[in-house]
Amino acid sequence: MQLMIKTQQWLVDGKEDAQLAEALEQAGAALAAGALVAFPTETVYGLGADARNSQAVERIFAAKGRPSDNPLIVHIADREQLDEMVLPYPQLASELMDHFWPGPLTIVLPAREGVLSPLVTAGLATVGVRMPRHRAALALLREAGCPVAAPSANRSGRPSPTLAWHVQEDLEGRIEGIVDDGPTGVGLESTVVELPEPGVIRILRPGGVTREALAHAFPGIFIDSEATGEEDVSAPRSPGMKYTHYAPQGELHIVLGDDSEAAASYIREQQSSARRRGETTGILAFAERLAGYEADQVLSLGSEHELENAAHLLYAALRRMDACGVQRIWAEGCVTDGIGEALMNRMVKAAGGRTIRL
Ligand code: AMP
Ligand code: MG
Repeated sequence: MQLMIKTQQWLVDGKEDAQLAEALEQAGAALAAGALVAFPTETVYGLGADARNSQAVERIFAAKGRPSDNPLIVHIADREQLDEMVLPYPQLASELMDHFWPGPLTIVLPAREGVLSPLVTAGLATVGVRMPRHRAALALLREAGCPVAAPSANRSGRPSPTLAWHVQEDLEGRIEGIVDDGPTGVGLESTVVELPEPGVIRILRPGGVTREALAHAFPGIFIDSEATGEEDVSAPRSPGMKYTHYAPQGELHIVLGDDSEAAASYIREQQSSARRRGETTGILAFAERLAGYEADQVLSLGSEHELENAAHLLYAALRRMDACGVQRIWAEGCVTDGIGEALMNRMVKAAGGRTIRL
């Protein structure tokens, strides 16, 4: 049982730069002194701690209830901060930074030994680093003056937070503070890449920087993917795959079909029979077919032609299903172009691999 502590709120939404700096001076000092401070980025809210301080980093895992075998991403405000924590890296890495930083791209680099807490790297010889494109995050990182390790600021397994309120829901009483700057931008986590050999960028996790954007910026480079099989939404998946992440409490199924009307009929049938069994039901659908559904909660992901918007809405919608006690959820799948790749990756993980292809 964890001791409850007072969680301070720093509201910076709508503040001018000077006022913002003043508000974040305190939050930055708290981080530097070993406190846990949640903060907004352009992807989702992160839960930050001084990446060099093992005691502070250990508390991230305790607050989230997260197993400590997963490395944490380190956030920086300036390129100069890199040299003290990583070993010399390939030219391609600097070119990626030139193109995409600040922004939702995490680059896995060789870690310098003895600088970061071993809990940050989970014992690996590498560290994932990014510079967020977010005014409050950058100001906070500058005030803290240290590299900041930050996973998403949710309890382990739950959907990531895209509002300060979501952080409060999950972590109030477990962390020292929350910087509230309103809703985050992309709404999904950063793209994580590694550079396994010259001429190759390998995507370890799809995210805010799309495969297409990487290919466009680096036409001569091969954009590879980690072959985990888990991310493969083209193959039918059996229920109950081991890895569930970003998940709502209700049982979620993703329904995919070349014929979207067939998928919609399937969802309607499933919903009716669950309703007859007395279960609380939810449907997550694109605006194009929303009016054809009935359920206790029918939530829109916006137009299927504007997947950036769907990315922005996904986690809040999953949390809303939880808040309403929804037991069974069906979500329409989407194409995996552009941000659709990251969106489907998160939906499939939230569903624990339960996808149905018609
Ligand atoms: P989260 O903390 O939930 O944003 O997840 C961090 C993601 O970055 C996970 O998918 C990690 O596996 C990945 N990651 C972070 N650091 C590294 C690293 N050094 N090597 C490989 N993947 C990493
Ligand atoms: Mg996370």
